[in-house]
Amino acid sequence: MADAAEVDRAVERARAAFASWRATAPGDRARLLRRFARLVDDHAEELARLEIANAGHTVGNARWEAGNVRDVLDFYAGAPERHHGAQIPVPGGVDVTFHEPLGVVGVIVPWNFPMVIMMWGVAPALAAGNAVIVKPAEWTPLTALRLAELALEAGLPEGVLQVLPGAGEVAGARLAEHPDVPKIVFTGSTEVGRLIGATAAARVKRVTLELGGKSANIVFADADLDRAVTSAPMAVFDNSGQDCCARSRLLVQREIYDDFLERLAAAVREVRVGDPLDPATQMGPLVSAEHLARVASFAGPGLTPYARGACPKGRGYWFAPTVLAAPPGFDPLGSSDAPAFRRAYEEEIFGPVVTVVPFDGEEHAVRLANATPYGLSGSIWTRDVGRALRVARAVEAGNLSVNSHSSVRYWTPFGGFKQSGLGRELGPDALAAFTETKNVFIATE
Ligand code: NAD
Repeated sequence: MADAAEVDRAVERARAAFASWRATAPGDRARLLRRFARLVDDHAEELARLEIANAGHTVGNARWEAGNVRDVLDFYAGAPERHHGAQIPVPGGVDVTFHEPLGVVGVIVPWNFPMVIMMWGVAPALAAGNAVIVKPAEWTPLTALRLAELALEAGLPEGVLQVLPGAGEVAGARLAEHPDVPKIVFTGSTEVGRLIGATAAARVKRVTLELGGKSANIVFADADLDRAVTSAPMAVFDNSGQDCCARSRLLVQREIYDDFLERLAAAVREVRVGDPLDPATQMGPLVSAEHLARVASFAGPGLTPYARGACPKGRGYWFAPTVLAAPPGFDPLGSSDAPAFRRAYEEEIFGPVVTVVPFDGEEHAVRLANATPYGLSGSIWTRDVGRALRVARAVEAGNLSVNSHSSVRYWTPFGGFKQSGLGRELGPDALAAFTETKNVFIATE
């Protein structure tokens, strides 16, 4: 567990490494990142197993995640040789722009998707010529440490990528305030994101924030209901609901509401919860006893679940997939009725609990979807393409999917509106978040 002095030493090492890394020929940087990607591929099963030990992920998810780490490295390995500036016509001379690396970038990572979220920051930052210090979450340092070893084995110079496990309030806070760390990528709770944002503002630091969510899954009566209902459970329960993009507010058009709820309950009872190492398992345990207690507090006294799935008993942080339906007459836009249900409907639970509420038409659905301080993702189920686009444009969220629950594709930008964050990761534009544009004018007259 690194203390503040160790963070300071790591920053010094990173500054020294940065000087030569930024001067490394773009093709050589690209080759090293590709070699790193090949080593991740060679160790994919080992990394997947480590992530299971780290965070309790199912084996299917953990294998996908190891593949995503490799793909993100490969994707940004293409960048050093292509991330060029512009030549702008001006009178009296020649004007050119350069994308300069920032220096030492701090990447602060949460426990829910330790290795993929780490790499979404690390790969574009390294490709752009920065040195990186990663601060993994307290509960989940294992895959981050192994990835750092693989980076060294791939030939990345020492100090270019460092991993410093440590407490958030100690190592994370020091990284965020350090005067020689000009950029922080933070993924985690909105609460800590506000602190990081305030620290960054005081020092005019660059910051990318990926924070919490309470995303809507909007099902219109004209949707393919078989697909909508069978996919709705895993849109929330994937990674045991510990997913910032979880569609935890299920909004269903009133005329199909009762029927949909019944079919949803049947689908939820089918979710296979158990041993993460069994390939048939769809949902594993929660990350810790502390988190289990927090999740349980949302579905506790004052609430009778509409339906619950099965989960193992005994050792392990198990919580059964749970459906909470709006009590009769509940007004989602009101404020006083049904406080226990309202709390579950409005707050980010980060566990396998879905709240279900009826709506009365397109405009009402959009109003409900937007009645949250968050704005990360969401789904829209309809066969009417005009409606799909109208609603997608009207919902205040960064990542929407139509007739799908997919949020993350490394080719495309990812990030939140409102209190779900600031800036975007992934996609071709992520490089801009790790460089400064410099303009140089050369007089010719
Ligand atoms: P958290 O905010 O408690 O911790 C995140 C990281 O910040 C950890 O590494 C922690 O050690 C560090 N940290 C804590 N206090 C700090 C401080 N004062 N200064 C600097 N660093 C500090 O979040 P968590 O519980 O690990 O993760 C769950 C949250 O992350 C959820 O709210 C979830 O929605 C969010 N999340 C968002 C995204 C996204 O992309 N938007 C993705 C995954 C998770």
